Amino acid sequence: MADSIPVPEVEVADVWRLLDERVKPLEPERVPLDKALGRILREDIRATADQPPFDRSAMDGYAFVPSSAPGNFHLYRIIGSIKAGEVAERAPGPGEALRVFTGAELPAPGLAVLMQEEARIEGDHLCVEREVSSGENVRRCGSDARRGDILLPKERRLGAVSLAVLASDGQVKPLVAAAPRVAHATTGDEIVPPESTPGAGQIRNSNQILIRSLLQSVIPSRNIHQEHWGDDPVAAAARLAAEPFANVDLILISGGASVGDHDYTARVLEEAGFELPVRKINSRPGRPLIVGFRGRQIVFGLPGNPVSHYVCFHLMVNYAVARLRGVPMPEWHPLPLAGPLPNCFNRRPTYWPAAMETDRVRNTRVVRPLAWNNSGHLAALLHAQVLFCVPPETKELPAGSPVNSFPVYFFG
Ligand code: AMP
Ligand code: MG
Repeated sequence: MADSIPVPEVEVADVWRLLDERVKPLEPERVPLDKALGRILREDIRATADQPPFDRSAMDGYAFVPSSAPGNFHLYRIIGSIKAGEVAERAPGPGEALRVFTGAELPAPGLAVLMQEEARIEGDHLCVEREVSSGENVRRCGSDARRGDILLPKERRLGAVSLAVLASDGQVKPLVAAAPRVAHATTGDEIVPPESTPGAGQIRNSNQILIRSLLQSVIPSRNIHQEHWGDDPVAAAARLAAEPFANVDLILISGGASVGDHDYTARVLEEAGFELPVRKINSRPGRPLIVGFRGRQIVFGLPGNPVSHYVCFHLMVNYAVARLRGVPMPEWHPLPLAGPLPNCFNRRPTYWPAAMETDRVRNTRVVRPLAWNNSGHLAALLHAQVLFCVPPETKELPAGSPVNSFPVYFFG
């Protein structure tokens, strides 16, 4: 019987070390801008040209070389008109003005633009009734960036503005961190799709959408394959040998990670040629966690309980995904507890979900532990922004105790 063999428990930090050793970053790739949202840059982006690329009018108005003659009243003869995209036939000389519209290329240095609201026109002359300095209302060539300037640093997560900056410089295929391909199977005869009405003893599949949503924060959805397996090890083995499981970078199997009679994950993985250095970790929740390797593939067997799922994802799966993408992991920080945490005794380290708050008196960020009843208590996670570690054998933690905390995806 599987449950007669004692399985050693691996410390969380030792699993991280193992992942550091065994998980090699995938090659970065070039992607078009419309596929690059949320991806991490793997190169410094330097301006290939000055921005703006020429002196442009910032306003609808009139461009002229401001007169150096004394007094606050000057007349300029209007010699023509250009809008954005047009090129002037000639630059206005002394005493001349050019009708210009926003974005138009100014034909000479040293011009000023008077906005049309301020301009008084008499016949074909512009009357200027105040002192105007050269450069007024002109967006100077190179004033936003000079050719060679760093527009976006390596490791930046590409958001809407980053992508617009890339587009404005014509850099349409940035080099970004690889997006690992993931195949995820939820398991269990008792699990039914969320849209169906559970029969006796059945429960709806909540882990599938949980994992998809967590992964989608960092991996495009087309790289995520999901399916559901019954408690049938033969069928599971066949799926593991077939596409996409045979070739993805990361396999996740939810449920069946423990040592119950129907928990086949470890056995099936071993038979499929995976080496399983971890079958249990020293943590609560999430103890029956399996970590394995086959060639370049990584597999996690996650305990089926939703809270365990959430914690194991952030502690472990996300760590492996960050390694595969070649990006740094978020760091742990000691933060003070917002209130006391009584009755937290456990002989294992506990990874406790908490919300972040601001202590207005001390003007610091503090963590407010969330109440969770058991490892099935999904709604307890709705407000989670960090996980913090309660060290083993801790009976209670007073308010203000520093607790090691780790950010989680926070769109509960
Ligand atoms: P297991 O790890 O397979 O023993 O499952 C542990 C608990 O998590 C059981 O109560 C399962 O019914 C529940 N569970 C397993 N898979 C899921 C899932 N996909 N969605 C929601 N609950 C699940
Ligand atoms: Mg199960």
